Formats: sequence, C-alpha cells, structure tokens
Amino acid sequence: SHIMVCGGTGCISCAAEEIIDTLKAELEIVEYAREVKVIRTGCFGFCGQGPIIKIHPDNVFYVQVKPEDAGEIVREHMVKGRVVSRLLYVDPEDSKRLDKHDQMGFYKKQHRIALRNCGLINPDDIREYIAFRGYEALARVLKEQTPVEVAQIIKESGLRGRGGGGFPTGLKWEYTLRAPGTEKYIICNADEGDPGAFMDRSILEGDPHSVIEAMAIGGYATGANKGFVYIRAEYPLAIKRLQTAIDQARELGLLGKDIFSAGFDFDMEIKLGAGAFVCGEETALIKSVEGARGEPTKKPPFPSEAGYLGKPTTVNNVETFANIPPILLNGPQWFSSIGTETSNGTKVFALAGNVNNVGLVEVPMGTTLREMIFEIGGGILDNRGFKAVQTGGPSGGVITQADLDTPIDFESLQSIGSMMGSGGMIVMDDTTCMVNIAKFYLDFTQEESCGKCTPCRVGTKRMHEILEKITQGEGTDEDLVHLEELAIMIKDASLCGLGQTAPNPVLSTLKYFRNEYEDHVVHKH
Ligand code: SF4
Repeated sequence: SHIMVCGGTGCISCAAEEIIDTLKAELEIVEYAREVKVIRTGCFGFCGQGPIIKIHPDNVFYVQVKPEDAGEIVREHMVKGRVVSRLLYVDPEDSKRLDKHDQMGFYKKQHRIALRNCGLINPDDIREYIAFRGYEALARVLKEQTPVEVAQIIKESGLRGRGGGGFPTGLKWEYTLRAPGTEKYIICNADEGDPGAFMDRSILEGDPHSVIEAMAIGGYATGANKGFVYIRAEYPLAIKRLQTAIDQARELGLLGKDIFSAGFDFDMEIKLGAGAFVCGEETALIKSVEGARGEPTKKPPFPSEAGYLGKPTTVNNVETFANIPPILLNGPQWFSSIGTETSNGTKVFALAGNVNNVGLVEVPMGTTLREMIFEIGGGILDNRGFKAVQTGGPSGGVITQADLDTPIDFESLQSIGSMMGSGGMIVMDDTTCMVNIAKFYLDFTQEESCGKCTPCRVGTKRMHEILEKITQGEGTDEDLVHLEELAIMIKDASLCGLGQTAPNPVLSTLKYFRNEYEDHVVHKH
C-alpha cells in the first residue's frame, strides 16, 4: 500500500514535508510496514483542508494532518487497519465523518481531465506518468497521424484556450502550420497572474509531463521543433518539478532527436518571467521570451504568422495543454460530449474568498455558479449571505444573486458582464464593500500597466484616484460620471487586453451596485 501526501505549494507551506519525513521514520520502526511507500503527489485540490493524505488502495482521505499525527496513521491505519476517525473530513450538512473523497460535496460534481494526475502520481517520477498512459498519445500521433490530422482532431474536440481568450486551439495550431517558413516555435504560457489563481501552478507541480507531452504533440502539429515554457519566477516548486520532468523525458528519448524513431525532433526549455501581469498577453510574452521588455505589440501580425524572432509561433496556456493527451487518447467526440454547445470539456477554477471550501476545482462547462458556490464550495463562510462572485480576475466582473443559475461557459459569462478568464473565482459575502473591490482590482491593473499607451497608463491611474476619493467619502456625483466616462474611453482606446479589460470591475460594480457608490458620494444639491 501507499501513503500519498499532497506536495502542492499549499500543503508544503503547511508542513507537508515534515509529515512525509515523520511518516517515513515511523514506518521504519514497524518491520512489516517498511514496504509501504510514502509518495509526494501533486495537489488534491481541497486546499482549505490541507495538508491532505490519501491511503492507497483503501482510498481513505485524511485532512488537516499535522506532523504529530503521522505516528497514529502508521500505527492505527497501516498496522492495525483501523481508520483514524479524528482525521476524517466532517460533512458540514450532518456532521458525519467521511472517509472517501468522492462522498464529499467538494468532489461530487467535479470531473478531472486537466487535473487527472494531480494527487494521483509522483510528479518527479516519469514512470508513474507513463503508467497512466503517459506519452502514449505522443507515440500514436507521431506514428499514425499527419500534423494536419492532429490539428483537425483538436479542432473537432472543440477545445478552446483556457487562459481566458477562448480561441479554438486546433485552429490556432492550423494557422501556425500553414504559415510559411520552416522555423517555428511553440510556447506554453505559465505566467498565471490573476490574483488568487493557481490552476497552472498546480498542474505544473502535480503533472508536468502532461504539459511536456502536449507541447511535443503541439510542436509536431504546428511544425515547431522548439518549445519554451514561460513561467513566473515566483513559482519555484513548479519550475523545479518541470525541469526534473524535462530532464527525465530527455533521458528516455521523449524529447530530443528523432522521438519514437518517427523522424521528429523536439526539445524545450524554461524561460523565467519576472511576474509582470502584462506578460500573460501573448505578444508581450513573446517579447519577454526574446529577452526584450515585456510590452504588447499591435495585432496583426498575429504570433501564428510572426511571433518569436519573427517566426510563426503558437502560444497556449498550461491548462489547454493538459487537455491535449486525453483528447488524443479518447477521441474528439469524447471531449465534445462534455460541457455545453459552445464550450466543450471542463474548466479548472481556483475557488476562493468567503466560501467554506476553498481550493482547486475542475468542473464540466455548463455547471452553474450556484452549484460551484453552494455545493462544491459548501456555501458562504460563517453562514453569511451571498453577495457576489468575481470571475475573470482583474479583467472580469461581478456576478450577483440574480445570475447564480447561469451555466459557466465562455458566452454566458460574457452575456452577464463578466468573463471566463483563466479561472479565478472569488466569492464575496454580504459584508463586502463593492467599491473597495473595484478599487482593489484597479489598484492591481494600474500597477501592472506596462505604460506603453496613454489611455491605460494615465487613465487607470485617474480612475484609481477617483475611487480613492469616493471610498474616503469625498467623491461627488460628478466624479461618478467622470469615472464611468473614463472607463468606457480606456476600454475603447487601449492597445492590449490589459487596458481594454481593466475598467471591467468598475463597470460591472457600477452596473449592479451603483447604490453603494452613491452611498459613498457627497451629494451636492
Ligand atoms: Fe501597456 Fe496598458 Fe497599453 Fe496594454 S493597454 S499596452 S498594458 S499601457
């Protein structure tokens, strides 16, 4: 049997390493327990309950484990076969202790595709990835399909970019493949900058090979022999595990020359970013990979025509890549049967804020916000009332009670004034001041503005000043009018996505919570 310990950044910060060491030491003491393996896996997702341990094959799930619990787990569970009941999750509905994770409200409605191996395998051991059909999709593609056919399969699956844009991935691949030239590149965008979001970090920490395999497949489909993973330097654990995975893949000939003797060469390297939000924008990202200042450029030309070093380049996000191998193994119809009409498959969200169950969640598209917040999220913290939920991070908007039954997909979130974004989902209770929320996001975007164009550089600063004035009780009705005008102007006139979406949190809170702004304002009669 195995003891699987969550080795994601969240649990590591709560002493998961000490738990692992203590478990190993305790197992050493008991002679016939010595063959029990302690495995450091990726994130299980239920971060609010960490550190998490799962016993295999018993499928028993322990939560909030401390190093001092390790001895009891070994003596009671591993030796005597008795479940340590005090370490089980308590169902908030009826206070029952649950020992299987799939009985818990947090997991019941989840469907893990991108996160399939997180919490299941040791990310530092390529053999474990291979044991779960790892690199099989790459082998099949290289031996049986042409690049055009691979792009076609991804197109048929309906996979759309998970970084926020929602552009059809297969189409992007086709554009790069068709672009003239023999030198092409593929880049993985792991610049995840949305406050509170950690989808990409967890995938890279828990299942780095799925991204490596997908990039090699994408390289083949687009005609690229070289890949880069652009990842922020604030993600040291993800960087370390990814580098280990790249080295292991190279050692086994899964990266490098003539992969699977199919005549295809592909290799990749990690490029570190300094954590600028704007570098998540693909043209700025490409500049940064080139070693230049990370500033967006005008599109067209699109990266698929002229990207890295002016050569055709594909940029896909981490989560998008993580979906690729299962699509190729199970077929495009399998994938397109999950989700809604226009948004196929699943989406990973980082559920946070005033909600009982905080963590990483992967749900089929079409799941409603109500299910996300009240079933998976277990409702609002301290039994308070729900006020709003922000999706799409600093580029998105707030969603209120009236829209809780909206199914989550690209189009429906847009239709109610928010957006899918990369997957940040922040729940707010009825004590939250919406003007403060808008100010928080604007503070973030004006700090992160690269300064290249005036509407965004100066406009977001002015908006922030007005919000500052309003929250201090010194704003006037005129300021409100001014705020709204500025917001609309910045949206229209900014060069890149950052500026074009920066006013969204203000516009959406103005739309749904205008009364709160008015309450702050000094009315002059
Ligand atoms: Fe830079 Fe903002 Fe202009 Fe984008 S919109 S190019 S972030 S100044």
